[in-house]
Amino acid sequence: MTYPRFYNAHIETMPLEQLRELQLRKLRKQLAYNYQHSAFYRQKFEEVGAHPEDIRTLEDLARLPFTTKEELRDSQLEQPPLGHHAAVPMSRVVRIHSSSGTTGRPSYVGITHHDRDTWVETVARVYWSEGVRPDSMVVMGFGMSFFVGGLPLKDAIEEIGATFVPVGTGASDRLITSIQNLGANQLTCTPSYAIYLAEYVRNKFHVEPRTLGIRRIQLGAEPGGGVPAVRQRIEEDWGAFVTEGIGNADVLPVYAADCDERLGMHFLAPDFAILEVIDPESGVSLPLDQSQVEGELVFTHIDRECCPLVRFRTRDRVIVWTDPCPCGRTGPRLRCVGRTDDLLILRGVNVWPSAIKDVLMGMRPRTTGEVQILLKQPGPRVDPPLHLRVEYGSDVEDLAALKREIEETLREKLIFTAEVELVPPGTLPRFEMKAQLIRKLYEQGR
Ligand SMILES: [Zn+2]
Repeated sequence: MTYPRFYNAHIETMPLEQLRELQLRKLRKQLAYNYQHSAFYRQKFEEVGAHPEDIRTLEDLARLPFTTKEELRDSQLEQPPLGHHAAVPMSRVVRIHSSSGTTGRPSYVGITHHDRDTWVETVARVYWSEGVRPDSMVVMGFGMSFFVGGLPLKDAIEEIGATFVPVGTGASDRLITSIQNLGANQLTCTPSYAIYLAEYVRNKFHVEPRTLGIRRIQLGAEPGGGVPAVRQRIEEDWGAFVTEGIGNADVLPVYAADCDERLGMHFLAPDFAILEVIDPESGVSLPLDQSQVEGELVFTHIDRECCPLVRFRTRDRVIVWTDPCPCGRTGPRLRCVGRTDDLLILRGVNVWPSAIKDVLMGMRPRTTGEVQILLKQPGPRVDPPLHLRVEYGSDVEDLAALKREIEETLREKLIFTAEVELVPPGTLPRFEMKAQLIRKLYEQGR
């Protein structure tokens, strides 16, 4: 069966000039709405003397203040449950999700019927771009509860007309037997879970994962899917075509994803949010007219009823490309380098945990690819050497030589000094949800 190339050709291939007109029209409407319905934004705009009507071009958006995660959390503490920034009464809220991976009180995101429709449309474009079609059967390997990587994916995959198999996390046996019994051909999960599952299938079922018939794997929820060596390992394990998507609980469940060209994840929701890239130090908005821009990702909703955000700082550090993609989608493409909170700086050199992971994955089978970064003090500045715990491969005999080789490779490729502690294969924790590359020793016992 042949299907169209795009889920929504009108939006996904819209010429940029036309798209900017559409965005400006929706932005002005949204800002007026926020001013009227969100006490949080009325106050923020008034503090800087801005009025929605002052915003006449997309560039004017940079005159409005940023919104941070901390502000949203404070807003919810002051006015539970959804905060001052919520712009509808609870009677119009149809579902509440919470954002994952944060310490302390979780933060909540409510959606109306209309918000739900925009989520379904966005995530359907994402999964279509990643190869889900009505004749696909997708096994769900993300958690199905509060997490935005759960139910919104179900809604979208069903909307496409594909078959959705709701297994979730913590049920690896059931996940594997459902692939075997139902003949599922796609799997969506985190990179760490795809790697964990492959080991699990070999050890427990004594079969090679590539014989199970999974043709495509859609990764998300952590940067590993964009790390070349991690992706390559998953492709080899499963014999599948691997793509990745990225989302944010406060913005949209998944807003960008690879196409088959895999030249970066296309931003697929330009009619629901405006993407901006800023210099994380100065806060200056970086023009997207160069071929490649690096900075922090910032979003402004332009079609949101319950919790609309203006210039929300995601803390995701990305590289964005705007040159045309052979697939025909016009949306800019991005690759997540890491969370700005995870960046380490050693003697002035930026080191991303995902880059360390990439180097160690590339040294398999002499290592297992598993690594833990031990921090005695909060980053980003770390005095060298950086302490790493690395699992050696099961056939390695000369550990001293391996340790030297890893330290030299890291110095050569990433320009920093490491102190490597080798540990036996299987020692470091495996994660079903998000991999934790950094172990904060200074938080132990808290
Ligand atoms: Zn493309």
